[in-house]
Amino acid sequence: MKVIVVGAGVGGLTLAQGLRREGIEVRVYERDGPQRRRQGVSLHLDDRGMTALSACLPPAHLKMAQAAMGRQRDRTQVLSEVAGELTVVRSEPLNGGAGGVRAGRQVDRPLLRAVLLHGLEDAVRFGAPFTRFETRANGTVRVYFGDGSVDTADALIGADGVGSAVRRQLLPQVRVIDTGKRMLMGAAPLATVADTVLLTRIGDNATSAQVRGRIVVLGVLRFTEPPVTARDRWLPDLHAAAVTGAEDYVMWAMPVTPDQLGSADSPHSVWHRARSLARGLPAPLLDVIDGAWPHATVALRIGMIPPTPAWPAGPVTVIGDAIHAAPGFGGNLAMRDAYRLRDALARTARGQEDLVAAIGAVEHDMRSDNHAVKPVSAAQHRSASHSRWHE
Ligand SMILES: Cc1cc2nc3c(=O)[nH]c(=O)nc-3n(C[C@H](O)[C@H](O)[C@H](O)COP(=O)(O)OP(=O)(O)OC[C@H]3O[C@@H](n4cnc5c(N)ncnc54)[C@H](O)[C@@H]3O)c2cc1C
Repeated sequence: MKVIVVGAGVGGLTLAQGLRREGIEVRVYERDGPQRRRQGVSLHLDDRGMTALSACLPPAHLKMAQAAMGRQRDRTQVLSEVAGELTVVRSEPLNGGAGGVRAGRQVDRPLLRAVLLHGLEDAVRFGAPFTRFETRANGTVRVYFGDGSVDTADALIGADGVGSAVRRQLLPQVRVIDTGKRMLMGAAPLATVADTVLLTRIGDNATSAQVRGRIVVLGVLRFTEPPVTARDRWLPDLHAAAVTGAEDYVMWAMPVTPDQLGSADSPHSVWHRARSLARGLPAPLLDVIDGAWPHATVALRIGMIPPTPAWPAGPVTVIGDAIHAAPGFGGNLAMRDAYRLRDALARTARGQEDLVAAIGAVEHDMRSDNHAVKPVSAAQHRSASHSRWHE
């Protein structure tokens, strides 16, 4: 059996690693070059993501991924100013209630991606945007890419994110809703806030500072093991640049409107915009944003996909953000989809289940437990068009 995966994000790479572990031939086609744009600094990984990584990664990769994580985060809290002091005014367990975020650990995104790519170098083709597919009479799928490549496989998996071109052909009725929210995200070395009350207040909690009319989401990532040491121990062949200079940091994210973001798009311009929006915040919060690494600062557009009615299964499917974008925990859902699909394709490869039935079962599960999408208004539906979505 041969599988083509479109998209080298967390979902596509987890799937590719899992398929390779099962001895299934896999090819990954990625639109961007190897040094692609950043999608943020860290991810909060919960039990769904951890289970998927444990099942799909070789043991040494898993150990290295765990070293790229911070401590367990079990609580979420709100900080506010009380008598001029940043004070915890609310604290709750992170229990996934009402489809929310579950307990877990932060993981450094670029380092996780480097680990996920490691060992797949021969299987991933960069600079190869998917353009279209054809299903053939013999049941195989022929796939065409913008760099001129053409490939054929038994199954095609679109793991190409919220603007998925695979979904656009497979499920043209699906619309991405632009929620109108933008998120500025970045990180500053932990030293920036060392010995401040802010660091003490954040602790190991998922924190939201709601101060002077602004919200700043905060999280501390203290690597479980220094990444340089972990690399020597677990994956000495991992390219050194993935760990060089890795240090503990405090991640921040600030929700803004499109008007507040303006035309800022390069990391430096987004960082400058964040600094100007943060002006007037109490000193330690301002220090986190002023002290952020400019190159690691990004602006992300927040999209949603309304629940999709069932569609007939076939050898082409979509996973992760391509079918259920969820800003706070979509990475976990993408990895879980990958794990489920890996198992389904492995059963097919062993002759235990028909390919289309196996894919159909995974799609059914994805649809039935998709907590990601919130209902949207008719007006938002009208304003939506996935052909305009380029994230
Ligand atoms: C502000 C914010 C904070 C978030 N925080 C968290 C968090 O803490 N925890 C969490 O679990 N999730 C979080 N998420 C969600 C998470 O980032 C996504 O759900 C996750 O990255 C989705 O993974 P994916 O593999 O489906 O898609 P992506 O990671 O988007 O990967 C898609 C890949 O496909 C490639 N691609 C696109 N088009 C093509 C094409 N035509 N041909 C070939 N390749 C293509 C892209 O370049 C990309 O590499 C957050 C999201 C946002 C916006």
